[in-house]
Amino acid sequence: MKTQTTPTTLRRGKKSQMHEVKDGSRTLQFNGRLLGESSSWRRGSTRWIEFKLYKTENGSYILSRVGVSIVFHSAICPLVKRYGLKEGSVDELKNDALPCEECNPTYHMPIVFPETDRNWAQVSDDPEPVLDALYKYDAGGARYLTNVAQRLLERAALNDEKIDSIYRIEMIP
Ligand SMILES: [Zn+2]
Repeated sequence: MKTQTTPTTLRRGKKSQMHEVKDGSRTLQFNGRLLGESSSWRRGSTRWIEFKLYKTENGSYILSRVGVSIVFHSAICPLVKRYGLKEGSVDELKNDALPCEECNPTYHMPIVFPETDRNWAQVSDDPEPVLDALYKYDAGGARYLTNVAQRLLERAALNDEKIDSIYRIEMIP
């Protein structure tokens, strides 16, 4: 009996597959691979950032940023108006949902106001816009990367030569 060769195992972990990311209320669907991900979550976090960077089969970069929140409020909380939150039922809350420390809603309230995740995504043909989107500027105009953005780029650089070269070698004009 002839043994089967399995060339796919050579590309294990790099296989292209269908992904979905959200940008506001729209969903981007594509075939590609995940280059890297990072999160600012720490033990006890109630709000944090999650980054994911993908490369599509056509070579485009898709950067996804999700601002996650597990906080929920009662109707009287000033943050409900400020964030424009919509009412929901306690049953719809995330498993790890936490009451706001200001308004102290209880799990017995029929109506609560959960904060929603904020989804943002960017599609680009080149790696430069990925870095541009991740850089922040301090009050003096100096460019810097947050720790969570830096971790994303470090990981993605291991899986993509273009990200690696523009991340590690910076041209100073
Ligand atoms: Zn509140």
